[in-house]
Amino acid sequence: MQNKKRLIRDIIIHHTASSFGDVESIRDWHVNGRGWSDVAYHVVILNGYKQKRKFNPYDLGKVQLGRPINQIGAHTMGRNFDTIGIALVGNFMKNHPYPAQLSSLIEFVSILIKSNPVFESVITIDQYLREKPSEHIYTHGEIFSKMNKYTSCAGISFPIDEVRERISRLIL
Ligand SMILES: [Zn+2]
Repeated sequence: MQNKKRLIRDIIIHHTASSFGDVESIRDWHVNGRGWSDVAYHVVILNGYKQKRKFNPYDLGKVQLGRPINQIGAHTMGRNFDTIGIALVGNFMKNHPYPAQLSSLIEFVSILIKSNPVFESVITIDQYLREKPSEHIYTHGEIFSKMNKYTSCAGISFPIDEVRERISRLIL
């Protein structure tokens, strides 16, 4: 039987809109709170607070894998089938993401988009995403506005232009 891999056209970035959390707590919220099959996001990037008001510097910028990337996520209604959803822990309506979170995001997305045998064994990166990454990396709100829908995610303080530029520089 032929193995049909998921085609990834865009990367979509979210914030959790919470002050703390990790894959485990978000999975619990999505599975037991919302009744979904698994955590909605493929990747979660921590802010050092796995638990409320308990900072651990070892967890700042840590990249955790959530839903397997070969599976369709549940992060952006209408665009889950051909995207990967990455959430940074934090509320970027109120705060800025930590530089360590941005560095981890940029590094992870660059590795994901570049030819990487581990990822390529389970997904196919669309050639437009590979050739023009800056045109295929969005916040949740940007993707929604293309569909005439609205969300404030990933927050007004999320520096999407800087993220796009830094990823492009790493890849090209
Ligand atoms: Zn979102």
